[in-house]
Amino acid sequence: MATKKSNTIKLKFDSARELAPAPESKSAATIKPQYELFINGKFEKPASKKYYHTINPATEERISSIAESNQADVDRAVKAARQAYEKTWKKMPGKERAKYIFRIARMVQERAREFSIVETLNGGKPIRESRDFDVPTAANHFFYYAGWADKLEYAFPNRQASPLGVAGQIIPWNFPLLMAAWKIAPALATGNTVVLKPAETTPLTALKLAEIIQEADLPPGVVNIITGAGATGAAIVNHPDVNKIAFTGSTDVGKIIQRAIAGTSKKATLELGGKAANIIFDDAPLDQAVEGVINGIFFNQGHVCCAGSRLYVQESVFDQVLRKLKDRMETLIVGDPMDKNTDIGAINSKAQLDTINKYLKIGLQEGADMYQSSCKLPGKGFFCRPTLFTNVAQSNRITQEEIFGPVLTIQTFRTDDEVIAKANNTPYGLSSGVWTDKGSKIFNLTTKLRSGVVWANTFNKFDPVSPFGGYKESGYGREGGLHGLYAYVNVK
Ligand code: ADP
Repeated sequence: MATKKSNTIKLKFDSARELAPAPESKSAATIKPQYELFINGKFEKPASKKYYHTINPATEERISSIAESNQADVDRAVKAARQAYEKTWKKMPGKERAKYIFRIARMVQERAREFSIVETLNGGKPIRESRDFDVPTAANHFFYYAGWADKLEYAFPNRQASPLGVAGQIIPWNFPLLMAAWKIAPALATGNTVVLKPAETTPLTALKLAEIIQEADLPPGVVNIITGAGATGAAIVNHPDVNKIAFTGSTDVGKIIQRAIAGTSKKATLELGGKAANIIFDDAPLDQAVEGVINGIFFNQGHVCCAGSRLYVQESVFDQVLRKLKDRMETLIVGDPMDKNTDIGAINSKAQLDTINKYLKIGLQEGADMYQSSCKLPGKGFFCRPTLFTNVAQSNRITQEEIFGPVLTIQTFRTDDEVIAKANNTPYGLSSGVWTDKGSKIFNLTTKLRSGVVWANTFNKFDPVSPFGGYKESGYGREGGLHGLYAYVNVK
């Protein structure tokens, strides 16, 4: 009798979509009805007097009102950053700066649950990802660069590194807190001050970070966080008293920034789009490779600049890989991002969902075969089924252009040279992945693939110690690791 009962239970929960709901509680986070600009250590009303609504993309409900900065607000923030730079921050010994950065890191850790909830509510990513990836990795970044602040003489032996001044930092909506950490931590460690603008759809965790920065007692003006859309970003880029631009976002905006700073003394790092090749050889451990492909393209709804969006499979194992991939896609749980079982949450905005749907249509018009998992989508909010395209050509737009959604194209290859040529046939060069049992093949490919990162038998792995950045239209400059310090100093 007992055995029968447990069998029934097992059967009931065998299918992924029948798991009982396991929602994270919203009550562990407080979100204010309205947020102001964080300038010179205080939350201040915008000179523009304008606010816009930020929403939860999974429910389309308004969460909070956000200040929209105009030129006068950007001026105020840059002025505060300049004063803090001249009066305190550039003169402060590295070991003192380190204490502040460590404090921020610890406070992010202490409030990790709150940050994860807010990140998920505002951006649509599964709570499992914000809890296990975004927030801990952001804290790690602060810890890592705090460690460098008093050791710059070892980072640049026999040379003298000096800060650049005021850094204007503009970040995207796919990893809001993590991108803020990537930008702020190395800038502070090297003695620069900061004006940071989060993306318009996901400002909340950056504003929570501002609260932490205030509580950590960072000297006023060292970090200023101002909100707004593209025009605010452009005002930061064009401000004459900004010494460095750190930008993560689309290649189109990267090009605008590049043109705007041409002929000025501003330094820049640009981390732009990508269209990564993920390559499976016939000797690869296929189950592991399929897991890597799933993680490579469906992590964070595919809103990842280094997403493995082009899959290349060696011809002899193509049928097997495709079958395994489709089976695995069926088990992915798409839905409420606050549910701890959810694998694929909400698309970040209506505009992004429209872009993805536009590409699905283009794929079909180009003659490709589309396969989507059969999951039911929630009635409200912005959602997209995990999708793959077969029967695609290298010249198709869905193979060439960044979609930034849960959409994978699959092609086959026979030889190493063929797949290297196909993988490199892209305007981008941010990342790629290789799956094989053979070390020599890995070395051959890692030296020939034109991308900033090549993962071998894994994908989407990040560590503050590893530099990250692109070639070609994926941008230039590196973030993370020792390399990440170079972007914020003059070296003599
Ligand atoms: P996406 O198209 O994926 O939204 P964007 O490159 O437009 O990516 O946005 C990334 C960041 O750049 C956001 O913070 C956005 O507000 C900002 N941004 C948009 N346009 C400009 C611009 N012309 N100059 C500076 N920043 C901009």
